[in-house]
Amino acid sequence: MSAVTTAGTRVVRGACPHDCPDTCAWLATVEAGRVTRMQGDPEHPTTHGALCTKVSRYAERTHHPDRLLYPMRRVGPKGSGRFERVGWDDALEDIAARLRAIAARAPEAIVPYSYAGTMGLVQGEGMAARFFNRLGASRLDRTICSSAGGDALIATYGAKVGMHVEFFAESRLILIWGSNSITSNVHFWTYAQEAKRRGARLVCIDPRRTETADKCHQHVALLPGTDGALALGLMHELIANDWLDLDYLDRHVGDWGSLRDRAMAWSPERCAVECGIEPAVVRGLARDLGTIAPAAIRLNYGMQRAHGGGNAVRLIALLPCLVGAWRHRGGGLLLSSSGWFRDVKDTVALERPDLLGGRRPRTINMSTIGDDLQRDAGPAFGPRVEALVVYNSNPLAVAPQSRQVVAGFARDDLFCVVLEQFQTDTADYADYVLPATTQLEHLDVHTAYGHTYVLFNEPAIAPLGEALPNSEIFRRLARRMGFDDPCLADSDEQLARAALRALDFDALRQRGWVRLPLPDAPFAHGGFPTPDGRVQVDAPGLGVPDYVANYESPRTAPELARRFPLAMISPPARHFLNSSFVNVTSLRAIEGQPQVELHPQDAATRGIADGARVRVFNERGTYQCTAAVTDRARPGVVNGFGVWWRKLGPDGTNVNELTHQRLTDIGRAPCFYDCLVEVALA
Ligand code: SF4
Repeated sequence: MSAVTTAGTRVVRGACPHDCPDTCAWLATVEAGRVTRMQGDPEHPTTHGALCTKVSRYAERTHHPDRLLYPMRRVGPKGSGRFERVGWDDALEDIAARLRAIAARAPEAIVPYSYAGTMGLVQGEGMAARFFNRLGASRLDRTICSSAGGDALIATYGAKVGMHVEFFAESRLILIWGSNSITSNVHFWTYAQEAKRRGARLVCIDPRRTETADKCHQHVALLPGTDGALALGLMHELIANDWLDLDYLDRHVGDWGSLRDRAMAWSPERCAVECGIEPAVVRGLARDLGTIAPAAIRLNYGMQRAHGGGNAVRLIALLPCLVGAWRHRGGGLLLSSSGWFRDVKDTVALERPDLLGGRRPRTINMSTIGDDLQRDAGPAFGPRVEALVVYNSNPLAVAPQSRQVVAGFARDDLFCVVLEQFQTDTADYADYVLPATTQLEHLDVHTAYGHTYVLFNEPAIAPLGEALPNSEIFRRLARRMGFDDPCLADSDEQLARAALRALDFDALRQRGWVRLPLPDAPFAHGGFPTPDGRVQVDAPGLGVPDYVANYESPRTAPELARRFPLAMISPPARHFLNSSFVNVTSLRAIEGQPQVELHPQDAATRGIADGARVRVFNERGTYQCTAAVTDRARPGVVNGFGVWWRKLGPDGTNVNELTHQRLTDIGRAPCFYDCLVEVALA
């Protein structure tokens, strides 16, 4: 709850809503209706009083002069960004009439499109899910970020579970794999630094020499998408040198004989060729893993954004099992902790799938929205998409293969409603833009995927202008549609109480956060949440994991690689969070302009100097940005930073102009980091 402090200021407890594993607890200072200060809650153990640079600016973002404060109706062509102010009544009446007319023919022709613009249970898929279930709209497969790794983790451990982030401080070896933690997981980095001070060895595995790699003892710059091959090469060495914990394997890991045979085919030499590293690196890394305890892996989602991302996560998740790292609370692996919340998070009570009433609408994959918006009706696809309702997402900027996405949103016969805080690229294509509140203006509750605390977010200020919480927008829309189910009128507090079970809601609200009661070393004695309690090597429906090469690589697509010889990854720019914060002036000023990093050798052969304007291109499109010539990029790999708003880039595009819509081996996810390009002077 908020506390009154001196001179009429209030300090209000809240939680960061952004798509970040840290899910910080924050304190917002309010003076005369404005938030004047944001700070991390010093009492919350994993936040320890510090917010990241981005969210320290959350007050600037909330009180930004460009905030959308009124409902707006488009008056210019799609994409022109020309809108006029309308009243809520007119907007909702027209939207409801348009949706009703479509639903009378084919409710599945209406598609919700949302992701993690907020991770809150109430303002995320709370009332929105109830509304779309009642409507019978298409369902959305929310795959754009983490489903390859998430499904792989479930296949291996039985759920998205892992180490407690706090105990990385006790690890003696930490492999930071596919994560620029200083940028995207800074509170984990605090624990890693503590471990380092106590003598731990830190190894960063990442195609880019990141700011995190700079501060580790070793950086392994493997080629993008070869992580599964590296895991098999490490297994080869663990087996060959007898660095296995056979007792742990016998007791707690399902039959792994077939994996042993597969791993023995991956000598350090073969592994090194595939990964673009030296055999000695494979041998040394395996020795570390096999001989230093406790060993821990902080895996993050960057590495699973390639064709074989799911298999790679399965293979990496087996490494701590081979060496018995789970015996220690400072050992094991953390990719996601979200599965630990299964006993307190009640998705059924929150989203009310019973409102479907026996209907089974089709599912649209959000990662192929570019193609799906352009499909005609057909027996396999179902009805053509006639209406999109977008909330908590900016697909024009973040979905792969932008040219297709833009073409889909530009359809004149597509009715599009966007709930937003700012006039994003996607909002430019809306028929109506409805102003949504920020986290400082609404109530919410949060679980996390990087720690094991439930958090409460108390609204700090009243909604600005005529902005409304997502929940209230869907409540009002439901009323206009004539839906009279009582649950569609539930308040935000009722939604929050429905979302959480088996915890003291009032105590959570009072304190702002509560820790799940979990053992420190959850799998020291096995007990994985699989049907038989053992790690699954041969997972049902998936078989034994194997290395799956990129769609786009010199070996798998030699003709393509001759024309587009550079592999591109697109990690987030340090001061943006996906496409959020790009419009916060102070943060954009730090980033400067969209950049692509090239190794000096690759730049020299193309006559490109540092700071030159370049074209990055492939057969899908062209993206203009500024070249940064630096050995942060390894030879043959370029780093194109995301996710800039298209309209803020020099030629009205962003890096997703180049990415494609093919999907990962597991989890139906996009392959943002499996992408060949060429770079030339603009
Ligand atoms: S973005 Fe992450 S690190 Fe930054 S305040 Fe939010 S949860 Fe914390």
